[in-house]
Amino acid sequence: MKNWLIIPLAFLLCHEAISQSAKEEKLPPPSATEDWSLKPPLVTPGETHPQPPSDAIVLYSNPNDLTKWEHPDGSAVRWATTNEALTIVPKATDIRTKQKFGNMQLHLEWRTPDPAEDKDFNRGNSGVLIMGLYELQIYESYNYDTKIYYNGQAGSVYKQHAPLVNAARKPQTWQTYDVVFEAPVFNADKTLKTPAFMTVFHNNVLILNHVELKGPMVYQGFPKYRYHEAKLPLQLQEHGSRVSFRNIWVREL
Ligand code: MG
Repeated sequence: MKNWLIIPLAFLLCHEAISQSAKEEKLPPPSATEDWSLKPPLVTPGETHPQPPSDAIVLYSNPNDLTKWEHPDGSAVRWATTNEALTIVPKATDIRTKQKFGNMQLHLEWRTPDPAEDKDFNRGNSGVLIMGLYELQIYESYNYDTKIYYNGQAGSVYKQHAPLVNAARKPQTWQTYDVVFEAPVFNADKTLKTPAFMTVFHNNVLILNHVELKGPMVYQGFPKYRYHEAKLPLQLQEHGSRVSFRNIWVREL
């Protein structure tokens, strides 16, 4: 047979074979893979970043309203408020939310003080302790002007993960964290089933991409999980530096 005849003939035979196999597979109708079981709720996004979306739990926006917060001993917040922000008072201890949270989307804004106020090793030191245990570090890290181990700079999961990049702004300017946190899950016998994961945007830049947490923050030694409740308060760290906060909200996931 001539070549110019063989090629079209081969194509026809092959095409026939494919059509035959599709018929044999008996594909289900397209509706079989349509999910109508759970309608995603309508959410009105904030008009401009960083206004909270309509389904957010606003934890701090009105400077005078600290009713959603307390010190870990249950006493009223002794941090300072101004017209625009909540500012740490050194030695006043951490504060935490009265409400408990597990999986969440978190937004907060923070500002480090004049670097001259703090000692080198402690410039702008604070932190977001999710569940009171897992620390996303707050620190003065602009241009690496303050020296610290990379997994201790702004945007690190303290002593566990350095950020992918350093997206820090200058001291005394507002910065944002947007966090997706997946809480750890424990088995019935209180052993770890799945670890916690964290994704973080610092000033809208991705700095931690679904990193696995090794356990609660420890300053010394290696982190390891210990059983805890599925929801725990969100905590802000007082570490002797006058770091300020504003616009704090969460969406439970
Ligand atoms: Mg800290």
